[in-house]
Amino acid sequence: MPRDPRFDLLFEPVEIGPVTAPNRFYQVPHCTGMGYRRPNSVAALRGVKAEGGWGTVCTEYCSIHPSSDDEPYPTASIWDDDDVKAMSMTVEAIHEHGALAGIELWHGGASSANHYTRETPLGPSSRPAGVNDPLQSRVMEKADIQDLKMWHLEAARRAKRAGFDIVYVYAAHWYLIHQFLQPSNQRTDEYGGSLENRARLLKELIIETKEEVGDTCAVAVRFSASAGGDDNDQDTAEPREMLELLADLPDLWDITVHDYSYEMGTSRFVPEAGLEKTMSWVKSVTNKPVVSVGRFTSPETMLRLVRQGVVDLIGAARPSIADPFIPTKIAEGREDEIRECIGCNICYVGDQTGTPIRCTQNPTMGEEWRRGWHPEHIPEKGSDSSILIVGGGPAGLEAAVALGKRGYDVALTEARRELGGRVALESRLPGLAQWGRVRDWRLTMIEKLKNVDYFLESEIDEGQIREYQPDHVVIATGAKWRRDGVGRWHDGPIPGWDTTNVITPDDILAGFQPEGPVVVYDDDHYYIGGVVAELLRRDGLEVTLVTPANEISTWTRHTEEQYRIQQRIVGLDISIETCMALASVDADHVVLESIYTGKTREIATATVVMATSRTPQDALYHRLVGQMSVDRIGDCLAPGTIATAVYSGHKFARELDTSVPAPVPFLRDIRVV
Ligand code: ADP
Ligand code: SF4
Repeated sequence: MPRDPRFDLLFEPVEIGPVTAPNRFYQVPHCTGMGYRRPNSVAALRGVKAEGGWGTVCTEYCSIHPSSDDEPYPTASIWDDDDVKAMSMTVEAIHEHGALAGIELWHGGASSANHYTRETPLGPSSRPAGVNDPLQSRVMEKADIQDLKMWHLEAARRAKRAGFDIVYVYAAHWYLIHQFLQPSNQRTDEYGGSLENRARLLKELIIETKEEVGDTCAVAVRFSASAGGDDNDQDTAEPREMLELLADLPDLWDITVHDYSYEMGTSRFVPEAGLEKTMSWVKSVTNKPVVSVGRFTSPETMLRLVRQGVVDLIGAARPSIADPFIPTKIAEGREDEIRECIGCNICYVGDQTGTPIRCTQNPTMGEEWRRGWHPEHIPEKGSDSSILIVGGGPAGLEAAVALGKRGYDVALTEARRELGGRVALESRLPGLAQWGRVRDWRLTMIEKLKNVDYFLESEIDEGQIREYQPDHVVIATGAKWRRDGVGRWHDGPIPGWDTTNVITPDDILAGFQPEGPVVVYDDDHYYIGGVVAELLRRDGLEVTLVTPANEISTWTRHTEEQYRIQQRIVGLDISIETCMALASVDADHVVLESIYTGKTREIATATVVMATSRTPQDALYHRLVGQMSVDRIGDCLAPGTIATAVYSGHKFARELDTSVPAPVPFLRDIRVV
């Protein structure tokens, strides 16, 4: 299909200093959990973005000098010629598709503990360093500031040599330059105190970087448009004054906010274009192009923001992760095929855990080089087998799409009246509506595949499967929450679990309305306990959220949500009991036990919701295995995140009738010196 001419505006070139972006699609710097450790993997990942039509593709934060490393969070680095060689692979992969390559030069200052290099962290003043590390930064002397500027210029030179088109001066997110900009920088020399003094380092770095590499490279500044505050009422006064001071010095303003939980907030807390109000003033104080992010997946929103003069370039990290081919799909009039980011932040877990990035919506993310997976292409089928998939949750749906694209004849049966499995149900919980996109995209694709049929309200058993006689059966029947409380803390059932007042999140998802007061017992530690508590509280019930962990929903630290979840729970007047295990359940009360002292306490309750762990629904698999060709995928194989279920379905589909290398099933980025 031809492109809708309304979207032509998005495909206009944009001049950025000495270079020209071929269109307005701009992949802003984002972490990958790969950094300098996995140069081949990261080059292939960025290359796929360029192939998908992003006119500009940037690296992740890239350390300029060993005086700053962020381990265990993986950064890129441009410390020496080895790094130049490694980074040029990324540049080549991006240039191969006609896109501009940007590099985000970075120094963490006091925000890095330098666990790897063991160098003393630097800062405008002596402040606690890293993330709760028992270590402080050392105050930068004048000579250190001169060194820093020299390192930055040397890094810029190396970046130019590696072939980059855009070089960043990174002045946001609490890193070193941002530390200088902050009012807390009360140095008594010309680099602290007044606003002009605090902005001096940034100003000098912009000017000097332009002098050094500005003949061929654009110089971009990543800058925070606010000094904090509520999402809808951010304090932009001082950032505005600073930006006015520097207005036309850089070639590009990359505008963000420094609170990650707002900048890259999950869809539960921050809507699409969430930063618009906070940053829409920027273009009025500069003549230079402006890029900003907002989890943009709707071409209409992108168009509106450019038309209204909010941005010149559509910045994206997550949308380009969930669908590296968004620009191509818009260009080809296939907007309906955009695999929209659901705003779950599973992609951020890679950075937080020091492991390669993955994505709920895009199972090929992070697998471009090591497994050779492509987000849009998949090898043709390896046989004429017919395949029956049982279960239409994320795993079954993804398997159906991927197998269908390979050319297999696929039939999918689903017991319920709707497809989507857990995402169909969970997307009705407060704030999780966008999770339904996991189902929606797959349904759109299935409707386009003539060789994939699905049948609703079709619970199937082993007798019917034998009658049907498919060549392969894939069991994707999911998992159910356990009622007995077995989880991380409890190896055995919690006494009283079988009383009628104990229910599970599955009951809530099925529409059961419990009586209050309610105790939600969360030994799962991801989102379900908190979100069920929120739902019940909003229904007017008195709710207590109990967990053996130190804080509620503790795993959501990895998705940058924990603070916001706890803030919401507290704001809703839900009582919180941390470091407490559920010792027993009675008809009208529960007994809680301190995990430290064993001391017990009773709480009156009418209902207990057990969110502890899940049981795979694999009975059908066990009845068939050994009798026919059968596999299980998703939560039925091992309960996990939606991302692991989608991945499991995709992996099965990719690998069917192929040979997978053994014992290591993928390539490894190993540099032997
Ligand atoms: P996953 O996350 O692994 O995809 P889900 O729990 O989301 O798992 O989805 C499993 C789906 O399988 C549910 O929609 C459920 O209704 C369906 N299902 C379970 N048993 C059967 C069966 N015997 N026949 C057809 N569908 C089934
Ligand atoms: Fe979006 Fe979730 Fe994928 Fe991240 S993991 S890009 S938030 S769908």
